[in-house]
Amino acid sequence: MLTISIASLSGGQGKTTTALFLGRLLARSCCPTLMIDSDPQHNLTTYLGFELEANQPTLLEFLKKTVPAEDSIYPTAYNDNLFLIPADDQLDTVQDYLSNSGVGATLLKRRLEAVAKIFKVCIIDAPPQRSQICLTVLGAADFLVIPAEASVKGYGSLIRTLDLLNGLRDVGATDAEVLGVLPFRDRWFGNTQAQESRASVDSMRSEVGEQLVLPSIRESERFKQAINKRITLSELGYQDLEYPFEILIEKISTHIGLGI
Ligand code: ATP
Ligand code: MG
Repeated sequence: MLTISIASLSGGQGKTTTALFLGRLLARSCCPTLMIDSDPQHNLTTYLGFELEANQPTLLEFLKKTVPAEDSIYPTAYNDNLFLIPADDQLDTVQDYLSNSGVGATLLKRRLEAVAKIFKVCIIDAPPQRSQICLTVLGAADFLVIPAEASVKGYGSLIRTLDLLNGLRDVGATDAEVLGVLPFRDRWFGNTQAQESRASVDSMRSEVGEQLVLPSIRESERFKQAINKRITLSELGYQDLEYPFEILIEKISTHIGLGI
């Protein structure tokens, strides 16, 4: 199982949007895919149409190992290949558990070993803060995808995320590598890119190198529409907006030989 964490250390950088569309496309085009909602705001869980009852196991129980691993994994209505470990606001209570465990950064990686033979890809939606949950999510990753708004704020989010990754690599808490940086809400007017978008995507390119910057997610209302209708962008009639995720899946397939 290849584990890919979608992380970016600011709010509203497109983490959940990226996780959702990537997960759906992966499940549709190839393979058993496990998604993990690691944000106590639980937007991914909501976007996938889950309304959990208080006693249903979530990532909290998966991390604490208070139930068998399979009990926290739910099929989704969207696709037979797409599964979710959901979250609710109680997930915040795991922060102390992780910091007291002494092995917080490697705990999720350890827990995922139990399901590594069932799924081909695991996509984790990270929270925006530099919390204990965020550390364990980076610790579990083979690769990181870093969405960053095509703006000054987004560039800052990229830099903070890279600093955290390098710090964790330095102390041996993760081996994760950056699979790609994904500019989010890139604004174009016809054939002209907005000045702030162009300047920030250029800065991202000089920071990580041209080859690591993926094609942008364009600023568009279609994403919200697709999320609300619980369909893909191509099902909505906008396949061109799926291009960044198609390129991402090509990159993923070179690492696991999906043959797509
Ligand atoms: P958080 O840090 O709060 O978890 P996030 O990084 O997960 O945020 P998202 O929730 O994916 O970010 O996106 C932020 C907002 O942008 C959401 O309201 C989402 O509906 C909206 N959005 C998604 N795609 C686009 C797009 N292409 N253009 C404009 N807005 C978008
Ligand atoms: Mg989110």
